[in-house]
Parts: sequence; C-alpha cells; structure tokens
Amino acid sequence: MDRRLLEETLAERHEPAYRASQAWEWAARGASGYGEMTNLPQPLREQLAERVPFSTLELEHEVESSDGTVKALFATLDGRPIEAVLMRYGDGRRSICLSSQSGCPLTCSFCATGSMRFGRNLSADEILDQALHMRRIEPLDHCVFMGMGEPMMNLDAVLEAATRLPDLGISNRHTAISTVGWVPGIERLAESEPPIRLALSLHAPTDELRSRIMPVNERYPITEVLAACRRHHARHGRMVFVEYVMLAGVNDGGEQARDLARLLDPSIYKLNLIPYNPTGSAYEGSSRNAIESFRLRLADAGLRATVRVVRGRDIDAACGQLAASGASGP
Ligand code: SAH
Repeated sequence: MDRRLLEETLAERHEPAYRASQAWEWAARGASGYGEMTNLPQPLREQLAERVPFSTLELEHEVESSDGTVKALFATLDGRPIEAVLMRYGDGRRSICLSSQSGCPLTCSFCATGSMRFGRNLSADEILDQALHMRRIEPLDHCVFMGMGEPMMNLDAVLEAATRLPDLGISNRHTAISTVGWVPGIERLAESEPPIRLALSLHAPTDELRSRIMPVNERYPITEVLAACRRHHARHGRMVFVEYVMLAGVNDGGEQARDLARLLDPSIYKLNLIPYNPTGSAYEGSSRNAIESFRLRLADAGLRATVRVVRGRDIDAACGQLAASGASGP
C-alpha cells in the first residue's frame, strides 16, 4: 500500500490523519481490501478502493510446494519482477523471505538473481506489500531478507519496512538481514537501534576462492567483513548467522573445512550449511554425504554447524529462480 498516496488522498478529503493508521492496521492484520475496514465510513472505503491500489504489487504467479512452502512472483507497478517465499515449519514457525531489490547489481556466480539484469531498489511499501500478501495467507512470526537483491544496498527502505513488521506480528528480534558482506551496511546496522539479526553469506573461507565466486569480495575482503560483523555482535550481543552454500568440488573440501573453522569464532558465529538449489548455473550442489563429512570435519576442528533443511525445491524456491525462469501469468 502506497502510504504517501493514502495520506495525500485522505488529506484531500479532509479526513483525520488517524484514518491512515486505521487502514494500515487492517492491512497488517491480514485484511484483503478496503471493504473489510468497518471502522472507516463506507463512502471513504469506496473512494480509497478507486484511488489507492490496495497493494503496490500485482501477483503474477504463485506456487505451493509439497512441503507447504509458498512462493509468489509479483510485478511492481512499473513491471519489475520480484518474489517472496513463505516457509512453514513443523514447530509452527511461519517465516517469510523478502526481496529488497528487483534483480541484483552483484554477480555471485552461483546465484540465479545475480545473472538477471538489475532493475532497481524497492520502496519500503513494496517490501511490506510482499509481507502483507503472505499475512493474508496466514499469521507470521519470522522474516528474513534473503530474497532477491542485496538489502544493505537499499538499507533505508529495508529498515523502514523492518520497523513496521512488528504490526504484522514479526518482531525485530525475529527479523534477519542477509548480506554478501557489504561493509558500510553492516556498520550501519551495527549502529542502528532495532535488534535485527545479521546474516552473512560467506560461502568461502579464503579471499582467493571467495573473490572467484563472489566478485564483491574484491571490494570488501573477508577480514574487513568479519571485523564489521564482530562490531555488530559486540553492539547487539546477538550471534551472527553465517550462510555457506555447498558447491561440489568448489568449497566443500577438507582443507576448506579446516580454514573455515579457523576463521569463525564459535562464540560469535552460527554456521549454516546450505544445500545448493540447482539453478542452471555451472555449479552442482555437494551431495548429502559430502555435506555431512564437511560438517563432521568442522566439528572436529571445534566449529558446530547446522545443515539447512531443504524447502520448496520442487517450486524453484532459491533466490531469483522463479523470476529468472520467466514464469508469469496464471
Ligand atoms: N544478497 C543477500 C541476500 C540474498 S540472500 C545475500 O547474498 O546474503 C540469498 C541467500 O541464498 C544467499 O546466502 C545466497 O548466497 C543464497 N543462494 C543464492 N542462490 C542459491 C541457490 N541456488 N541455492 C542455495 N542458496 C542460494
């Protein structure tokens, strides 16, 4: 919902300013349109429906995986593709994965979004409309900025959206921002008030390998990135999640396990090994056995890691996959 357009429309009609908050509260609680907003006068509801689109996004395509994961592909009003995912876990957790940009200016070689053309930053309203769409499906409690784009390159909008997520039931403590290691963004998040969790996409334990698969590493090498993560930890006292996508024969060897264990202080970092979702790139995911022996090697070297449960593989739920495949229309 375009909040500015809503506020302007209300002001033109000489409506009290609290009407905007009323409309927002309905949306945040899962209303599917102005018609449901029974504390707004009927003529006003009708006018708003005409003047202010209920969402800044058009739903283009939605699929549900056999494991309950829902993935939605949207278009912005200027036709940019973005996607969001709802993950349902056995313990009742409902977590959404949001996009911060359409496409991504970074070019991580294994990532489907990285191979798309960069569109633009999303507004806070466009970010929130992804969440509101999922909220209309069911109540939510967790959020990760792990969809398309690099959230730290659009941090104003991401933080503005994050500070409104509690109205949907998602506290800042249950919100995580994932980054390639964009140092100025990590620094800003470290300095900012809300206790939002930091997640780092590391994917390689040495600069040589990391620069090869993530060109952004040339700009912000590992030592600088980890120094910024340490500051975030020192300031907020929250573990930093490290994501490590397992690429067969690339970053899953014994030597890399040893280097990784040396690099990461277990009192600061929580390591998550991510099975690779094949995307048509040149990479293959490490086998289940290779992931398990990597995990055991890490444990021997003193670093505990969890292996991410695969969700939504049958619906191309990895970052950028649905948009990159050009899926559209019902
Ligand atoms: N740009 C941010 C936010 C995107 S998060 C970041 O990189 O952290 C998306 C996460 O999914 C990142 O850790 C990314 O490296 C990972 N990813 C991308 N493509 C993937 C794939 N095909 N399979 C598994 N993980 C993937």
